[in-house]
Amino acid sequence: MSQNPFSLEGKVAVVTGANTGLGQGMAVALAEAGADLALVGRSSPDETVELARKTGRKVRVIMADLGSLDPVDTIVGETKEALGGLDILVNNAGIIRRNDTIDFTVEDWDAVMNVNLRTLFFLSQAAARSMIAAGRGGKIINIASMLSYQGGIRVPSYTASKSGVMGLTRILANEWAAHGINVNAIAPGYFATNNTAALQADEKRNTEILGRIPAGRWGEPADLGGAVVFLSSAASDYVQGITLPVDGGWLAR
Ligand code: NAP
Repeated sequence: MSQNPFSLEGKVAVVTGANTGLGQGMAVALAEAGADLALVGRSSPDETVELARKTGRKVRVIMADLGSLDPVDTIVGETKEALGGLDILVNNAGIIRRNDTIDFTVEDWDAVMNVNLRTLFFLSQAAARSMIAAGRGGKIINIASMLSYQGGIRVPSYTASKSGVMGLTRILANEWAAHGINVNAIAPGYFATNNTAALQADEKRNTEILGRIPAGRWGEPADLGGAVVFLSSAASDYVQGITLPVDGGWLAR
């Protein structure tokens, strides 16, 4: 076994929503650090599989719609059966719906809360039960947002869900630290992905956003690699309940 505290050799990581965007960037970083991967989502993650396999790691694809809790037990069971364990869970899958708060619908509320918060909680619970039973600890990394800290505009269910992710990260850390499970979150700033396509395409909003990012550019999925490997590795064994901004300085403004 490697003496490098950032090495993930011998570890198995589940990444949700890894076919594209931030999930793809984090999955590839975890594989490069040595982890085998279970990629979970509703769209086939062909490109991510190809990138991850180039690192020589094992990859298992688990097709699942995370809008419901139905696949939760299968995700944990299939990961363990195919890859021999479950050490790391990255709760990345998430959606956003935009509308004036005054007109916001129950459908847009429930769709976002189900994927971003409800499934994140119950998948974490199922993973933690497995980690506790295996007795070798584990790492859970939730993907939060700048809207865990700020209110945003026209995205009420997204703001509620991501503020909830930051709170859940703390309570899960409080309860599961005693089992050697670290629960932390990453709050990405503004990253160029499908999730922000509408903002990037809006010339006025794009200029406003870039104008307040000290780094002067949108984030790229690979910019999350260092943070996710750190929080997945022994290097962060005494880090609990934090939400780590990776935002080019947005929150510092
Ligand atoms: P993205 O490109 O839209 O990717 C979202 C991922 O989640 C996709 O793989 C998507 O699958 C998956 N997903 C959504 N609903 C699902 C469902 N019901 N079942 C299974 N998978 C589902 O967006 P992204 O920017 O990479 O977002 C990843 C995470 O980062 C999200 O939690 C997002 O809120 C968060 N985030 C993003 C930014 C940003 O600036 N981009 C900033 C802060 C936080 P499909 O391709 O099938 O839809």
